[in-house]
Amino acid sequence: MPDYDYDLITLGAGSGGVAASRRASALGAKVAIIEGSRVGGTCVIRGCVPKKLMMYAAQLGDALHEARGYGWAVEAAAFDMAPWAAQKAAETRRLEGVYRQLLNGAGVQVIDGWARIDGPNTVVVGEQRLTARHLLIATGARPVRDSIEGIGDCPTSDDVLDLQAVPAEVGVIGGGYIGVEFASILARLGARVHLFYRDRQPLRGFDDDLRTRVAQALEAAGVVLHPGQSPQRVARQAEGYELHMPSGMTHRFPFVLNATGRRPNTQGLGLDTLGLQTDRVGAVPVNERFETPVPGVHAIGDVTNKRNLTPVAIAEGRAWADAHFGSEPGAVALPDFSLIATAVFTLPPVGTIGPSEADALAAGHTLKVFESDFRPMKQTFIGGAERSYMKLLVDADTDRVLAVHMIGADAPEIVQSLAVALTCGATKAQFDRTVAVHPTSAEEFVLMRQPARVVKPGA
Ligand code: NDP
Repeated sequence: MPDYDYDLITLGAGSGGVAASRRASALGAKVAIIEGSRVGGTCVIRGCVPKKLMMYAAQLGDALHEARGYGWAVEAAAFDMAPWAAQKAAETRRLEGVYRQLLNGAGVQVIDGWARIDGPNTVVVGEQRLTARHLLIATGARPVRDSIEGIGDCPTSDDVLDLQAVPAEVGVIGGGYIGVEFASILARLGARVHLFYRDRQPLRGFDDDLRTRVAQALEAAGVVLHPGQSPQRVARQAEGYELHMPSGMTHRFPFVLNATGRRPNTQGLGLDTLGLQTDRVGAVPVNERFETPVPGVHAIGDVTNKRNLTPVAIAEGRAWADAHFGSEPGAVALPDFSLIATAVFTLPPVGTIGPSEADALAAGHTLKVFESDFRPMKQTFIGGAERSYMKLLVDADTDRVLAVHMIGADAPEIVQSLAVALTCGATKAQFDRTVAVHPTSAEEFVLMRQPARVVKPGA
């Protein structure tokens, strides 16, 4: 057996890489993790965490307005991004420190630098040449920069999170998670936002009833929607960007957010030295055990472009480490990925688990659709217009609850809890037997008695 420096070298210290490395080390493996940017990766440093901190800033603007309706005398308030940015930088530094401590505490050696694979079992970092029995590629993804001619010059979500001041006008290109979240947030922080997306509604792939309401909520926040419209070219100018639309029209903005998706981070990794081919978008091909076609080389998380969400990468990393370094090495025991709850942090936010109505019908289910659309008590008291919408999709033959969809205050928190019930295979009868917690919005999910409609596939 060859003598390697390590049992495992992990490339990339994001959520997945850190989780896998800590677990492997706890199971007795000698582990090194290599990171060229900041330990913590996209989610902690330039994604989920700072985005949510920015969402909280936006939400507090709404809260100030609501507070007046509840009797508080609130003087004119204004948002200043600079103190938020300083606090955000301090918080991500703190979290990076926590991640480094966790790795050190687990006995994982953290190596700072960009890793390049150089043949079987070998990684080069700067002047160092390291070998390991297993290489785990966990290098995540990065914003796409060539989706539209000229878009590579535009800021991405990384840059929005580093802004020191809110731009007066923002053009957002792309109606996915990042596009709608930042449109919603920036509009509340004072920007005049225009959102451009190719489909008739934002959030392609989500349930249509959610998509319609997300669009309505964005409009209510002052976002100017441009459905079915996307520029064919973006031109950088001295003071901003010009969007050239297929119609011949142009739009000018001082700031344009490129939110047209993310792509696996495999460029320059040296995969060619292994003869490892990536797919069309640069993803590392893996089987259900996260093995690439090259023995000893594995990949987890966004770099495999399967289910690009932080909790999935963490679960994959831990399961992979258990399978390779646990007391009973063998199959990778993953959580149930057939049902993954997800949230979109617009205001109000979206929480969802299970297929959209269209997808459930396409899969052949006859559906009982239960819905509730109401103004929550907090809003009615102050004459607020914000509504909550909840939807259950129930298989009419088995009574099983297939999906829970919600847009409204606390939707991600509510759907996270209901995800347990769905993972257990809950039926509508079991929802009906559950006693409500009153007064809450979530209680609606156990109080819907009459289906709004029954729909058959192909009807
Ligand atoms: P998404 O894949 O969610 O959305 C990309 C958007 O860009 C879509 O609206 C897509 O349009 C559009 N687009 C793609 N190519 C073009 C093009 N050539 N011209 C015009 N429009 C284009 O990617 P995001 O960047 O929003 O997010 C990346 C990933 O990060 C997400 O998939 C998700 O996995 C993760 N994420 C998760 C979050 C969460 O959990 N809350 C938050 C943020 C990110 P179309 O629909 O027409 O293809």
